[in-house]
Order: sequence, then structure tokens, then C-alpha cells
Amino acid sequence: MPTIFTRILTGEIPGEFVFRAPRWIGLCDISPSAPGHCLLVPVAEADHLHELPLETLAELGPHLARLTAAVRVATGCQALNVIINDGRAAGQEVPHVHLHVIPRWAEDGKTCGLFGGSRATATTLSAMGTQLRAAWGQP
Ligand code: AMP
Repeated sequence: MPTIFTRILTGEIPGEFVFRAPRWIGLCDISPSAPGHCLLVPVAEADHLHELPLETLAELGPHLARLTAAVRVATGCQALNVIINDGRAAGQEVPHVHLHVIPRWAEDGKTCGLFGGSRATATTLSAMGTQLRAAWGQP
């Protein structure tokens, strides 16, 4: 059975894309821990990072760096958490590799960026997606 991220990729269910590349996509998290919380997701389905094809892993660094830059520009955040829950025992809920990119501010009162956010409205997600796509497009 396809994962929820594959179902978004195929258009079966909606998703707010930041970018789409052949091997990776950027998505707005539907329940953001902070405004601008994104997910970097490989097109290839694998539960764990080490199971991804080498050509996919080779593109992880450049896409991650560019996504962190886009989140900084779009949100004006002071810092970021990049988090991967690599397995169920580590808190992974969706069994399809993904990295969380979460904007942070010095006074946001959190010790870790990832926590259960509340579900964003379609309007909020769409507005954030517009800002993130614009920032992704900047050199
Ligand atoms: P994890 O606990 O690391 O597996 O995180 C899964 C993340 O996927 C959570 O932050 C969810 O809010 C997010 N998520 C689940 N369904 C969707 C969806 N349809 N669109 C975007 N993000 C989603």
C-alpha cells in the first residue's frame, strides 16, 4: 500500500509542495510545529534512510541545504532544527523517509523544534507554500 507521501506525489491526495525534483520533494507539514515547517521527502519509498538508493542519497545534501535556506528566507527565522525520526522506535509515524526542517526563534520557548503541532488550515498552508516556493526559487 502506498505511503501518504507517495499518495501526495501521485496526486491522489493534496499536498502543499515547496519544490518537486525527480528524486526529492519539499512539502509543507500539514501539522506544523512552527509556521514554515517543511518535510524533505524522497520520491523513492523506503522506511529508513540507509535503505534509499545511492543516487537518491547523493542528492540529499544539496536539497536539504537549499530547503533550509528557503525556510530561513520565507520565515525570517533565527535558526532551524533538522530532524529525522529514522524508525518507529524513534518516533517515526509515516513509514517513508522524511526530514523535518523546522524554523526556530530564540524566544520560541522550545527545547526541540519537533512537537505535535495542530493541523493547519488549507488557507494557511497555501499562503506558507507560496512564500516558500518564492524563497526556493531565489538563488
Ligand atoms: P514523523 O513523526 O517523523 O513520521 O512525522 C510525520 C510528519 O508527517 C508529521 O509532522 C505530520 O504532521 C506529517 N504529515 C502527515 N500527513 C501529512 C500530509 N498529508 N501532508 C503533509 N504532512 C503530513
